Amino acid sequence: MQGENDPLAAFWMPFTANRAYKAAPRQLVSARGMYYRSADGREILDATAGLWCCNAGHCRAEIVEAIATTAATLDFAPTFQLGHPLPFELAQRLAALMPAGLDRIFFTNSGSESVDTALKIALAVQRARGEGTRTRLIGRERGYHGVGFGGISVGGIGNNRRAFGSGLPGAGHLRHTHDPVRNAFSRGFPAHGAELADDLQRLVDLHGAETIAAVIVEPMAGSTGVLVPPAGYLGRLREICDRHGILLIFDEVITGFGRVGAATAAEAWGVTPDIITMAKGLTNAAVPMGAVAVRRALHDAVIDAAPGGIELFHGYTYSGHPLAAAAGLAALDLYAREGLFARAAELAPHWEEAVHGLKGARHVIDIRNIGLVAGIELEPREGAPGARAMELFHAAFDAGLLIRVTGDIVALSPPLIVEREQIDAMVGMLGALLDGVA
Ligand code: PMP
Repeated sequence: MQGENDPLAAFWMPFTANRAYKAAPRQLVSARGMYYRSADGREILDATAGLWCCNAGHCRAEIVEAIATTAATLDFAPTFQLGHPLPFELAQRLAALMPAGLDRIFFTNSGSESVDTALKIALAVQRARGEGTRTRLIGRERGYHGVGFGGISVGGIGNNRRAFGSGLPGAGHLRHTHDPVRNAFSRGFPAHGAELADDLQRLVDLHGAETIAAVIVEPMAGSTGVLVPPAGYLGRLREICDRHGILLIFDEVITGFGRVGAATAAEAWGVTPDIITMAKGLTNAAVPMGAVAVRRALHDAVIDAAPGGIELFHGYTYSGHPLAAAAGLAALDLYAREGLFARAAELAPHWEEAVHGLKGARHVIDIRNIGLVAGIELEPREGAPGARAMELFHAAFDAGLLIRVTGDIVALSPPLIVEREQIDAMVGMLGALLDGVA
């Protein structure tokens, strides 16, 4: 190695403009509760729960201890043909948190892996049921399902197609549900757009139900800007799936573990899918882990179809990793002990009032919210989409507030331990900062 003395050069950062970041790096060095600490020694109020994931706040002692104890006791054990107690225990606990019937759990290491696992399980289920012609996977425009090939194929993000091509053949897409005209500044579920679920019926009419394995949606699209589902939309999607033998997958990587006021959006909003993907809050993000919850009857169909053999030819070295499972158990204990899912539901009205107080703030063209999530959409700067929100992101960080921006949308999702005064402080800071953004 010669000639390179930039200590930041080697790390190729994900989803980052590397040159711009490295020219003016901002780093976090520690965290506790609602706060990060920056490398230059400042407290940063966390309005994003890390990356929608530290739902119980940071560095919670119970989780730290569980990880440390497990690391010293059982660093790793395979779960292929062997096992150790922790993932069995965690699966049982998770099954009890899922909507009735979805009580079979497959472990992964991330949201992306959960999505690709869920899509593969859907294909396996259809084959096991003797419906092997059902190979088509349907997603939605502006859907974000991680970065695996399955996930980017069913996802509806133009940048993925421009960067990596069109992905899996045969993937179809529903239209996204964002309607900035009819639903501007909606609170909770937008009133208009349930009929967009009928896009699935149109795909059935076009391709034939016998070609469609599953449809995957985020109950609330998070990463593409907090697109809350129109009232009635998810129920209508469920009905169309039922009519045509199509499996419904909810990607709850963001909405799981209390974000919308219950263990899952499925529970909070009363629509039960066949498969649920999870990650992030599962371990409070202290150790990477994802999971897929599957309806028992679907699991049984796959198991029964391969008597004596390996039923699902799929898995990860780290499926059910001891450290992750220990962190997951400790996180679930913490969520239950502190009643954090209910707390999110209790705080939601205050949250809604607070974030909608930014209506009329400079550059703000839309605000939407549900549970403890909000999307605040800014008017893009002419000829420079995303630049205004990025300027706000930097200004906020420098002022002691961590937000997330996606395009020109500010996405807020604080840890569920947030206090009302902290909510007010976040919103107050944002309003003041918006004034100073060009
Ligand atoms: N699905 C959804 C809905 C997500 O929000 C994300 C991450 N933001 C993913 C999948 C991918 O998760 P990961 O980054 O852990 O792979």
